[in-house]
Amino acid sequence: MPLPSTPSAQPRLRVLTLNAALGPLDYAPRPGLDAPPGSIVRVPLGPREINGVVWEADRLPVKEVDASKLRRINAVYDAPPLPERLRRLAEWVSAYYYAPLSSVVRMAMPIPSALDGARTITEYRLTGSEPQRLTPQRAAALDALSDRQGVVREMAEWANVSDAVIRGLIKVGAMEAVDAPADTLPPRPDPAFAPAELSAEQTAAATRMIAAVEARRFAPFLLHGVTGSGKTETYLEAVAKAIEAGGQALILLPEIALTEPLERRIEARFGVRPVSWHSDLRQSQRRAAWRAIARGDAKLTVGARSALFLPYPDLRCVVVDEAHESSFKQEDGVLYHARDVAVMRAKLERFPIILATATPPLETQVQAERGTYEELVLPSRFGGAAMPDIRTIDLREHQPPSGQFLAQPLVEAIEDRLERGEQSLLFLNRRGYAPLTLCRHCGTRIECPNCSAWLVEHRLTRRLMCHHCGLTEPTPDACPECGETGTLVPCGPGVERIAEEAQQRFPGARLMLATSDTIGSPAKARALVDAVENHEIDILIGTQLVTKGYHFPELTLVGVVDADLALKGGDLRAGERSFQQIVQVAGRAGRGAKAGEVLIQTHQPEAPVIDALVRADAAGFYAAEIEARRDAAMPPFGRLAAIIVSGPDEREVAETAAYLGRNAPRDIEHFSVLGPAPAPLSLLRGRYRHRLLAHAARRVDLDSVLGNWLGRADVPPGVRLTVDIDPYSF
Ligand code: ADP
Ligand code: ZN
Repeated sequence: MPLPSTPSAQPRLRVLTLNAALGPLDYAPRPGLDAPPGSIVRVPLGPREINGVVWEADRLPVKEVDASKLRRINAVYDAPPLPERLRRLAEWVSAYYYAPLSSVVRMAMPIPSALDGARTITEYRLTGSEPQRLTPQRAAALDALSDRQGVVREMAEWANVSDAVIRGLIKVGAMEAVDAPADTLPPRPDPAFAPAELSAEQTAAATRMIAAVEARRFAPFLLHGVTGSGKTETYLEAVAKAIEAGGQALILLPEIALTEPLERRIEARFGVRPVSWHSDLRQSQRRAAWRAIARGDAKLTVGARSALFLPYPDLRCVVVDEAHESSFKQEDGVLYHARDVAVMRAKLERFPIILATATPPLETQVQAERGTYEELVLPSRFGGAAMPDIRTIDLREHQPPSGQFLAQPLVEAIEDRLERGEQSLLFLNRRGYAPLTLCRHCGTRIECPNCSAWLVEHRLTRRLMCHHCGLTEPTPDACPECGETGTLVPCGPGVERIAEEAQQRFPGARLMLATSDTIGSPAKARALVDAVENHEIDILIGTQLVTKGYHFPELTLVGVVDADLALKGGDLRAGERSFQQIVQVAGRAGRGAKAGEVLIQTHQPEAPVIDALVRADAAGFYAAEIEARRDAAMPPFGRLAAIIVSGPDEREVAETAAYLGRNAPRDIEHFSVLGPAPAPLSLLRGRYRHRLLAHAARRVDLDSVLGNWLGRADVPPGVRLTVDIDPYSF
C-alpha cells in the first residue's frame, strides 16, 4: 500500500497576502497561536513583515514548497477574523469581475491601526488659546479648524497648511492632544423609538419585506415607488425588524452627500444616528467603525458602495437606495457593481436585499418581469401630493440671447415663484463655469495634457480643471498657444455660469450653488439642507447631486437647463440614464402641499425619452428600451466585457490590442469580439487606451473564455490589461 505522500499532511497555513503580485504564500503555524481561516496575520517576507489573511488551502492553489522550508507566522491580530461567507463572496467577486483575490480582500480590510485594538490614536483639537506669534498660516489654521479634531496630517490637510504649522501650534499650546479609543460602542438604534404609521400601500410592501427578514431567507426585492412615495419609511420597517432580531442592517447610498438627509431620518425613526462609512471619515472614526462593524456592535450602517465589503458577522437586511445610480459601479481598482455584489452577498448569507428606486435600472426591471425579483410598487406620493406637471420649452423657438442659457418661459416661471415666495431648482449636470475655453484669435481649445479631454473652467477657484485626472492650473490670461491676451472665451454653460446668469436676471433672489465642489462633505450637505428648509434660499442651482434624496416641501419649480446633454452619450444606457435623471430631478418638485411644475429646455422635444417624460409614460418607455436591448442581445439579454489595453507608449498599446484582436477566440458559438479601437477616452492620466469589446450570449461561460484568451496572452511589461465586466462607459 503506497504511503500518503502529500506535503500538506504537515501543518501549514495558506496566507493570502494583500499584494496582488505576491498572491498566496504558505507559512508554518506558530505553536500556541490559533489562526483559523479568516484570521488576519502578520507574516515575514524576506527581511520585512507584511499582513495577510489565512485562507482555506484547498480553495487557493499554490505551488507547494516543502514544509520544512516554511517560515512561521509572526502574529495574529486582535481583530475579528473575516467571516467565512465574506471569504466566499470575495472569491465570487474575484472570479466574476476577473480581479485578483488580494485586491478584492483589501476592500474588506481596515486601515492598519484598526488591527491593533490596544493602540490609541492621538488626535488634536484647538484649546482656544491664541499663540503669541500669529503668522498668516497659523491664523488660517485656527480659522479652518475651529470645530475639527484629527491626527496631525488630517488637520494639516483640512487647513491646507504644512504639518509643521500644526506641530508648531501644538508646541505653543494652541492645540491639545486627545486620545481616540479604538473601541467605542455605537449607540443602539431602538426599533420601537418612533415607528412610522404606514399607508395601506406602504404596509403591503413592508409586510413582504419584514416577512423575508424574519424568515432569514434570500429574497431580492425591487421597491419601486414614485418620487415622494415614502420608500424610505417603508424600507426602514424592514431594517427595524433586522435590528429587533439582534442582527445588523446596511443601507447603501450612491453619494456621501446623501448620507446626511438619510441619517436625520434614521435618527427620527430609531432615536440615534447610524454608523456611517464613507471616504470623508477621519482615521480614528474609520478605525472605530470597522471594529464596531466586525464585532457585530454596529447594528445599522449607512455607507457608500465600499461599505458592502466590510466584515459584518450577522447581516439580516441590505438596502440599496437609489438603486439605478451609476455611481454604484466602481470605475477603478476592482471594477465591480455594488448592486450586483449586494445581491450575491444576500444570496450567500441568506437575507433579503431591497433595491429601492423611482426609476429601476433596466436590468432590475427585467428581473422583476421574469419573477426572479419581487416587485413592490408604491404608485402614489405619500399624503396625496400630486406628481409634478412636466412640459418642454423648445429652444428652437425660444432661443436665449447669445451667452445666456435660460429661455424666456423659464425665466417667467422663476419670477412667478419669486413673487409667491416659493423655491426653484435649476438643474444642469455640468460642474464648473464652462466646459470649453477657446481662443478667439487662433482657435485653440485648451486641452488636458494627460487626457483626451478639454479643461473645464472653474471660476469660483479661478482654475482650469480636468474632470478625468484632476489636474488643475490657474486660468491663464493669455492663450497658451498664440500668446494673445484677452482672447480666451468660455463656450457653453456649467452650473457656475447658470448661477451667474440667474444672479443677473433675478438680482434680489438668494441663490445657492450645489455641486460636488461646494457640497462635497456631509457637513456642507447639512448646511445646504438647513438653508433650503429654513427658506434662506430662493433658487438652488445644482448638478445631479441635488436630484435625489432631498425633500424640500417649498420647492415648486424645477428647470432642466439642457435635457439634450444626457441624450448625447451614445452608449447603451444613454436613453435610460437621461430618463432616470430627469424623473429624479422632476421628483424634487411639489413634494409638499403645493403643486410642482417641471420645465425641460430641449432642442428635440420629439425625442422618445422627452416624449415619454411629458406623457408620464414610464411603462411605455421601459417596454421600448427592453425590446431594443432584447433585439440586440444587449445586457441583460446578453453579456458584455470591455478589455482595455493601456500604457504610456501609444504604439506598444496599439500593437498589443491588435495582437489580442488577432488571437481572439473565433470558434465559440454566441461569442464575438469587436475592435480593437481607441477607447472613448483614448488618453487618460497619461496612458493611451485601446479597447476590445466582447459580446456573449448569457449561456456562454465568459469567465473561462476570457481566461483562456487573456490568461495566455503575451503582454509587454509596460502595458496593462483591464477587464471591465458589464461595462458602463464604453
Ligand atoms: P421617496 O424616497 O419615495 O422619494 P420619501 O421617503 O422622501 O419618498 O417620502 C416623502 C415624504 O413623505 C417625506 O417627507 C417622508 O417623511 C414622508 N412620509 C412618507 N411616508 C410616511 C409615513 N408613513 N408617515 C409619515 N411621513 C411619511
Ligand atoms: Zn486630465
